[in-house]
Amino acid sequence: MSTSATEVDFDAGDGRPDETVVDGIGVAPGIAIGTMHRYQVARPEVTRTHVEAEAVDDELALLDDALDRAEQELDRVRSVARERLGADETAILAAQEMMLRDDEVLGPVRQRIRDEHESAAHALSNVLRGHRRRIETSDDEYLRERATELEELETRLLQFLQRGKTAATIQPNSIIVADRLTAADLIRFQRHDMLGCVTARGGETSHVSIVARALNLPAVAGAEGILDAVEDHDPVILDGRRGRIIIQPRADTLEQYREQRTRHRSLIEKAEAAPVTTTDDCQVTLRANVDFGETLDALDTYGAEGIGLMRTEVLFLSGREESLREQRQYEVYRKAAEASGTHGATIRLLDLGGDKMLPFPHEEENPFLGWRGIRVLLDREDDLLRPQLRALLRANAHGTVRVLVPMPTHLDELHRVRTIVTEEAERLGTEDYSHDADLPVGVLVEVPAVALQAPQFAEAADFLSIGSNDLTQYVLAVDRGNDRVADRYDALHPAVLGLVKRVVEAGRAADTPVSLCGEVGGDVHALPVLLGLGVETISVSPPYLPTVKHVVGATNVADAQTLAAEALDAPDAGNVRHRARAWCDEHYEADLFAPSEEL
Ligand code: PEP
Ligand code: MG
Repeated sequence: MSTSATEVDFDAGDGRPDETVVDGIGVAPGIAIGTMHRYQVARPEVTRTHVEAEAVDDELALLDDALDRAEQELDRVRSVARERLGADETAILAAQEMMLRDDEVLGPVRQRIRDEHESAAHALSNVLRGHRRRIETSDDEYLRERATELEELETRLLQFLQRGKTAATIQPNSIIVADRLTAADLIRFQRHDMLGCVTARGGETSHVSIVARALNLPAVAGAEGILDAVEDHDPVILDGRRGRIIIQPRADTLEQYREQRTRHRSLIEKAEAAPVTTTDDCQVTLRANVDFGETLDALDTYGAEGIGLMRTEVLFLSGREESLREQRQYEVYRKAAEASGTHGATIRLLDLGGDKMLPFPHEEENPFLGWRGIRVLLDREDDLLRPQLRALLRANAHGTVRVLVPMPTHLDELHRVRTIVTEEAERLGTEDYSHDADLPVGVLVEVPAVALQAPQFAEAADFLSIGSNDLTQYVLAVDRGNDRVADRYDALHPAVLGLVKRVVEAGRAADTPVSLCGEVGGDVHALPVLLGLGVETISVSPPYLPTVKHVVGATNVADAQTLAAEALDAPDAGNVRHRARAWCDEHYEADLFAPSEEL
């Protein structure tokens, strides 16, 4: 189920004396077994050549022709994206599209050709390199990742200008390894049935990772040293959950992973959208986090009980006016509501700021503590918040929609959203739009203040959802995207767990449903801790669901409560992890979720 490709297995034991293991960050789960293909972008050489006055127009025409061809190619990629990922996902190509039409970029290129008599290739390369450098040194992680996309576009334009080979080719049925890849690369490679991918750079939040998850491709990012460790055609195992690549695996390793892969596939086949019952008869609801419309099919494939978190930022990525329009949003939310059936779809209001780009120019010293989430929305009520709430009210007439408010800190912010929901529902009534005013409004618990005031928020909100990714960042004062402090970021820190417990208890006391939608919900060792703390609804990226369901179904909540109590008393996150692992070893079958840790 991981891909539609035919997996190519191989015999272990040939070649080097022993297997080599390279670790990175697992960004899309699943196991791929196959041979490696190193993908390198051939960058055309650009030398400075003088263009004679009478040839300047030809050079300008050459540039326009290259831009047209790049646009046509992007169109083809977009249509594959639409087919494989759904209509809204094409926003991931926004950076490239925008640049192809940006006069601020192309104006200086044309001017250099016209006035300096530079060749189109030289002018383009110089101007784009300047832009890229600025982006690469930006403090904004989102922007830095866009630099890779711009670099790719530059390479392709240069190839078109030099009329060179343009199509990226890979060996069919292979696992791709590259320094970096773009989302467009992945979409292109899908046509060659790639089995999985590894990049030396990048992380969990990059577009490549999001697209890999959406395409069900196991992927590992940030595998430093992989390019030195692997050669073309090397047999490898790629473990996308643990973030591990095993090169020239031993026969016993291969055997374990083959079994693991078979087990994983059989779990997917059994996936049903029903609550999972623990061994002591507690019911746990498992929902899906979706970033794109495409993942809507995955609700069925992986048996999700509706959508627990739909991130809507991708809709706004292109920054083009039309993407903000109510009608377009309504169509997307309506599809999500329909696909979620009676389980319903929790759709988050735009969570801009922080590491997520705003669709308008804005810079801040300290964006994570600055203009983020609901703070932006309330300041831009008319052009952002009201159209989104109207679209959600209208979509609610076609299913069960729940609205989630990102990054609130003050109760007032929730009250204000409710007031606007009421006002817009009344207006929709007078405008004769079908809508459903019964729209539950929930709060994403991401800021410690909200967890500390959980009883008040639980009284005021229709539901609470624990956003453990940001909650961890703010409780531990560790930037979630900063590699330098990554080892200090762990949602299993007892201080974070204490707040999770507080929120769960406040929800129970007020009879307000509580769910958890951060990445920790897909962490198998964390699951018994969360269940022991009383979490009963978890939302994770769909490919994690089969394993999560399996682990939840094998858990005894009463036993897990003992582990949770110990975790709350533990001195630090490392200690909690250690205890959680030991607990899992003791309480689950040895092969429940992975080949042994010693691999
Ligand atoms: C979270 O913070 O836990 C969350 C679910 O939101 P995001 O990862 O989109 O910030
Ligand atoms: Mg968040």
